[in-house]
Amino acid sequence: MRKHRIAAIGGDGIGPEVVQAGLRVLEAVAKADAGFAFETTSFDWGSDYYRRTGRMMPEDGLAQLAPFDAIFFGAVGDKEIPDHITLWDLRLAICQGFDQYANVRPTTLLPGIVGPLKDELGAAIDWVIVRENSEGEYAGVGGRAHRGLPLEVGMDVAVFTRGGVERIARFACDLAMTRPRRKLTVVTKSNAQRHGLVLWDEVVAGVVADYPELTVDKMLVDAMAARMVVKPGSVDTVLATNLHADILSDLASACAGSLGIGATANLDPSRKNPSMFEPIHGSAFDIVGKGIANPLGSFWTGAMMLEHLGEAPAAKRLMAAIASVTAKGTVLTPDLGGSATTDQVTEAVIAALRGANA
Ligand code: NAD
Ligand code: MN
Repeated sequence: MRKHRIAAIGGDGIGPEVVQAGLRVLEAVAKADAGFAFETTSFDWGSDYYRRTGRMMPEDGLAQLAPFDAIFFGAVGDKEIPDHITLWDLRLAICQGFDQYANVRPTTLLPGIVGPLKDELGAAIDWVIVRENSEGEYAGVGGRAHRGLPLEVGMDVAVFTRGGVERIARFACDLAMTRPRRKLTVVTKSNAQRHGLVLWDEVVAGVVADYPELTVDKMLVDAMAARMVVKPGSVDTVLATNLHADILSDLASACAGSLGIGATANLDPSRKNPSMFEPIHGSAFDIVGKGIANPLGSFWTGAMMLEHLGEAPAAKRLMAAIASVTAKGTVLTPDLGGSATTDQVTEAVIAALRGANA
């Protein structure tokens, strides 16, 4: 029997709630499939850990995670601890420490879900956003000086390297080639950001030239946001910078019904390090502890993790189970207009998995 070692990190806010739900569903998928099993280890890292120890994760955190086949993550973010600590010292520490440079965010409208876009417009959503995940606007380069003085300055420097752009462009082209429409939209703001993003444009143009079968177009990020809403069917695979893709993918999830649905994979395509799978949302302070967090983003990223682990049929079964639950429309959390709890959605998906196997 194939064994997959999973490191589970719930993190903060609703993170542990959706990770718990996700692990239950993944167990059910494994149970329905005699071919593989999960060996899961949970880590209590995050803001409570920080309050106890002064760190978001132990000093040797990355070394502890390194032997796992994948990391299943919730969210970070705390009302008391500044975001730059919670984000940089856990989630980004893992993404950048493990060189998970390719962040992949698929969006389709699940059956039965009514998103904010009208009928055919909503139905046309079938996107994958590829986010550069190792540098750019989130390179962590910058500084502050002259604190409190009128000449105080704060800078975040967006860093783009030829190698960094080239590898994500190649990844996006390869991914776009696996999709039926073979279409790639390259997003920047290179009219205003005239150094790093002009380098980006040049490097991407060179890579794209190796893919004559791809249809490629270029958009500025502001116009792209509008295009996703007005002409969603014209968009397929999207390549964008760390910041731009972060924003566009929240828009994508909202167009598909809720931030609670969006899922993402932080991939180290070299497979030297474990990759990390998470819903795209944050810790959602306003609904913590109410038992109503939408777990579908966690389930969806679980399916992406299965795919990554070589369990594509199981991933398909999980997506089908999710779709069969949303199609009925009776067991949805409040963010999707329903009144179901996290547990009820979880039970419904598990029941669908059992049913499919009966
Ligand atoms: P958020 O995603 O936490 O919440 C935005 C809105 O969406 C809230 O109204 C929330 O209730 C709703 N929402 C999010 N996920 C949901 C779900 N699964 N089910 C139902 N509703 C859901 O974004 P925010 O409010 O901007 O950020 C809160 C904190 O989370 C901040 O500290 C931020 O830094 C952090 N954050 C972390 C990550 C991450 O860990 N990857 C991502 C985004 C934000
Ligand atoms: Mn985000």
